[in-house]
Amino acid sequence: MKKREFIKTSGMLALGAVLSPTLLGSCNSLTSGKAETEEEDTVSKFELPKLEYGFDALQPHIDAQTMEIHHGKHHGGYVGKLNAALEGHALAGKPIEEILSNLKDTEKDIAVRNNGGGHYNHSLFWRTIGPNAGGEPKGALAEAVKGSFDSFENFKTEFSTAATTLFGSGWAWLVVANGKLIISQTPNQDNPRMKGLVEQEGMPILGLDVWEHAYYLNYQNRRKDYIAAFFNLIRWDVVGAEFDKVKG
Ligand code: MN
Repeated sequence: MKKREFIKTSGMLALGAVLSPTLLGSCNSLTSGKAETEEEDTVSKFELPKLEYGFDALQPHIDAQTMEIHHGKHHGGYVGKLNAALEGHALAGKPIEEILSNLKDTEKDIAVRNNGGGHYNHSLFWRTIGPNAGGEPKGALAEAVKGSFDSFENFKTEFSTAATTLFGSGWAWLVVANGKLIISQTPNQDNPRMKGLVEQEGMPILGLDVWEHAYYLNYQNRRKDYIAAFFNLIRWDVVGAEFDKVKG
């Protein structure tokens, strides 16, 4: 409650210099005359996850400037807008996975859908790529890839085709659905966890961002080259662990 007292007594000008984004939220509610509830004060906010590697660590496959903008501005933007969209929303305070599987195709949910998807998708993306990676899956995942796609090379071709042919902005996915591996596409920031909202539902274990913001600085219109480069970055150990968790 100390923060609120401070806002009330110190005025807006002095605040401008010291505001954190969280405080700024409170400040906006005050200026718009909207009363804050106790609940909003205690609901935890989503945060931009730190990268496990430097912005330049994925070169030459993904350049440092793209990584810095993509992580800080794009993913950071989704996180900020997700927190704003969840204010007063029934799903506020729930884990992101639960939020995504309980959204409706309504105007009311669209900001949570876009920004919640954006936050989840990018969090998975950063974790499943890295330097000194690539190669092929091992263990149970390798067996499942063979079972569903006959060979790793076939999987690579099918996944690349899905990523190449996706029109506009979206993601290509490797998904566990009904115990099997499948490849799917979603537009915008949708993902297979969004029950009732996407064509192919399931548990995504690997996703490729094919929004132009993910590759345009380095590859311009050459999405195909970016997709080929992506295979040098996949951390199959992490994807395999995701697979084991889902199959568990
Ligand atoms: Mn992106």
